[in-house]
Amino acid sequence: MTSAFVFSDDTILCRQRPNGWWPVQLELPPSATHSDEETQLAYQVGHVTLLESLAPRHWSPDVNPTSASVDILESTDSSINTLHTFTAQAASAITYDYAIAHHMVLPIIAEGSGNAFVPYRQLITQLPVALSDQLSQAIQLLRWQTDTQFCSRCAAPTIHAKRDERAMVCPVCRLRQYPRVQPCVITAITRPNPQTGEMQILLAHHHRYGQQKTAPHLLQSPQPLLYGLIAGFVEVGESLEHAVVREVAEEVNISLSDIRYVSSQPWPFPSNLMLGFRASYAAGEIVIQEDELSHADFFDLSNLPKIPSKGSIAYELIAQIANEQGILL
Ligand SMILES: [Zn+2]
Repeated sequence: MTSAFVFSDDTILCRQRPNGWWPVQLELPPSATHSDEETQLAYQVGHVTLLESLAPRHWSPDVNPTSASVDILESTDSSINTLHTFTAQAASAITYDYAIAHHMVLPIIAEGSGNAFVPYRQLITQLPVALSDQLSQAIQLLRWQTDTQFCSRCAAPTIHAKRDERAMVCPVCRLRQYPRVQPCVITAITRPNPQTGEMQILLAHHHRYGQQKTAPHLLQSPQPLLYGLIAGFVEVGESLEHAVVREVAEEVNISLSDIRYVSSQPWPFPSNLMLGFRASYAAGEIVIQEDELSHADFFDLSNLPKIPSKGSIAYELIAQIANEQGILL
């Protein structure tokens, strides 16, 4: 049995539960599952199989691996089969268009139905990490499939590689196109406050975060500005450590010491692998790259501005440093 998450662009079909939105999984009809013959005959835009290592049994705390069905959502509409089992060894992901084209029965998606397409960015703050990683993988694979329907060298229509290889193959020139991951470094830079000795972290306000919104006609404070860490893509031919040094020099003009890797996070906007680093401030005055940043400074950990949401690697890096100083975010 295969079950699938349903996507529409970067949103996921979810059901409202008391503790928030939860992705709906649909059973796929046998005709919609992959078979060797089928993948060779028909290009299935909008259906991908997800990694078994990210399957729910690896993350769901209340799943008994021997149980056949763990979680059943009762539906008031008898035409909808919303049997959810979290024991599937691997899940699939399909697009909404694919589901419609294959006549799959979808839950009612309307106001008041308790079902809706919810943006991944919203879900990531509330779902277990392995589940949000699985959704992240699905978004990237579905987009990759859509973007590789033709050979980028000779423009012939592509076909799926045989069996389990995840590649789109050109039948004319044999070029293979694989899902692409773009490495991106993100760095938490610390120093002691020169006056007080309190630990500080470098944060920057990016133009892409938007400007401060003021509403003079309303009796409310303006939205606080969002501050994040210094981040950027790794260039061709560059090591991760070099990318950290270069990005920080470009964006805020300071030098670093004690650069060390902490953790990573897949981030499907568009297809990034965020590689989280920590480093110590070494020397230099902050000079911001004005076409990217509007402000950057060292902030005391006890007095931080608005920072990225929980669930993002930026938050995790900042929270880790704050926790070491005895500060809970
Ligand atoms: Zn080709």
